[in-house]
Amino acid sequence: MSAAVIDGKAFAAGLRVRVAEYAATFEQSAGRKAGLAVVLVGEDPASQVYVASKGKATLECGMASFEYKLPDDTAQDDLIALVDQLNADPMVDGILVQLPLPRHLDEQAVVERIDPAKDVDGLTPVSTGRLALGLPGLVPCTPLGSLMLLKDRLGDLSGLDAVVIGRSILVGKPMAQLLLAQSCTVTIAHSRTKNLADVVRRADIVVAAVGRPEMVKGDWLKPGATVIDVGINRLPPTNDKPKGRLVGDVDFASAAAVAGAITPVPGGVGPMTIAVLLRNTLVAAHRNAGVPLADGAL
Ligand code: NDP
Repeated sequence: MSAAVIDGKAFAAGLRVRVAEYAATFEQSAGRKAGLAVVLVGEDPASQVYVASKGKATLECGMASFEYKLPDDTAQDDLIALVDQLNADPMVDGILVQLPLPRHLDEQAVVERIDPAKDVDGLTPVSTGRLALGLPGLVPCTPLGSLMLLKDRLGDLSGLDAVVIGRSILVGKPMAQLLLAQSCTVTIAHSRTKNLADVVRRADIVVAAVGRPEMVKGDWLKPGATVIDVGINRLPPTNDKPKGRLVGDVDFASAAAVAGAITPVPGGVGPMTIAVLLRNTLVAAHRNAGVPLADGAL
């Protein structure tokens, strides 16, 4: 292996420390804690784990956490009414509706109802539009965390060739916008892209957000490329790993032999997502309370 391993766990821990420091000064200035509300509908076990860890992390960095657990058969109108209530609540700076929602609910309508000033997931049309326009706003946590790791590793990204594999609203599209805003030359690849390996081989920066275990191989990479592996995939159980091994969208062993730097799975992008959620909540809190926060402070 020649690549440097990008330690997302350590970077995220540092970001959480900074968030906790700013959360304390925010509380002094605003006379209240910054607050994050998380809404979970239904009993999905993975979502329950995510919501619990978000609540714990919020409290750990000195912010207020409000959890709303609604039954699986919650009606659309009741969920919308809760979002309206949280929009109006001055103690709530960030609203996160845990996705996916049960199938009978209209996810897009629920997301669109969130006040863009409290849209810490960055998924409302206003947040998405502001990102595309290059205006300040709240940006989805996973791509913003990925960008932080890239800038920490590479410094100025201007002029670099970046290939983002995946075009989801949650990861691929906002990632491409963020890299474009850094003056990268950006290619977005997806399931219809022809000769994907050749496309990826041009890139100085590769961001893989596909959801296909170990798809990107080392011989797809330009030597020295920086690889951000967003994927989280659980392989089928084996005798050694009865719960199944967790792998990314990149074949780590072969990629690490060619890349200049690479994020591992787990311990790369994953820990950044919650850290950036906390950061977004605090940024929103400063704006909502009219407390100044220096550009780039967090
Ligand atoms: P989606 O399923 O929404 O999007 C996957 C994208 O990959 C689509 O744009 C799809 O293309 C593209 N794709 C699928 N197959 C191929 C292929 N063979 N070649 C090229 N492109 C392909 O996934 P998400 O964006 O939500 O998530 C991607 C991965 O990131 C998942 O593993 C997920 O678990 C992980 N993730 C990790 C997070 C973290 O905190 N680290 C947070 C969020 C996601 P098309 O549009 O043409 O269908």
